[in-house]
Amino acid sequence: MNKILIIEDEEAIADLQKDYLEINDFQVTIENDGAKGLEEALRTDYDLVILDLMLPGMDGYEICKNIRSEKDIPIIIVSAKKDDIDKVRGLGLGADDYMTKPFSPSELVARVKAHLARYERLVSSTQRQNDMVEVRGIKIDKTARRVYVDGEEKVFTTKEFDLLTFLAENPNRVFTKDELFREIWDMESIGDIATVTVHIKKIREKIEDDTSKPQYIETIWGVGYRFKL
Ligand code: CA
Repeated sequence: MNKILIIEDEEAIADLQKDYLEINDFQVTIENDGAKGLEEALRTDYDLVILDLMLPGMDGYEICKNIRSEKDIPIIIVSAKKDDIDKVRGLGLGADDYMTKPFSPSELVARVKAHLARYERLVSSTQRQNDMVEVRGIKIDKTARRVYVDGEEKVFTTKEFDLLTFLAENPNRVFTKDELFREIWDMESIGDIATVTVHIKKIREKIEDDTSKPQYIETIWGVGYRFKL
């Protein structure tokens, strides 16, 4: 069930919004004070905030700015004055929508649903986009082509990145230098396998604490390399 926070000091309006949203299966919380509203918005995981502008404690402009600096949930601003809405737009506070009072509760519900659907699509597409490979302390973001070792980003050349990714995606398998060369450099290996050794050395310098005792890429003497899971 989606959770919605209404920050609104006019109780009749807040109650009306709450009733309509609850009929539509939303879980609703009302805060009448601006400062308390902001506190609640930051403390609890809401899916959407409906925000009045003129409030005791703290005004809606400040609240919107503060929520936006912490969270990317949809914020719908409601105000009795058309001028205020223009001001909000002009300030670029990061609100997702604006409604002028009085508005029909069913329109509010429709907009809430639309914003939640849009937000969910956005969140799931972001998660889908990032194709990650994670092995212990190493995190490889294949989409962004970035590597993090114990949370710290390390810079890899294209081939180093490809080689590390290939090994990490095929752990516990031994690859000969020839196989790795063909896989990464995409051509028949004729005497260039020293390139693989050089690249493995460079990768180790970036991912291993102690390159003389590799924890990730093991050397299998006389055969090749293996990525330890
Ligand atoms: Ca008000």
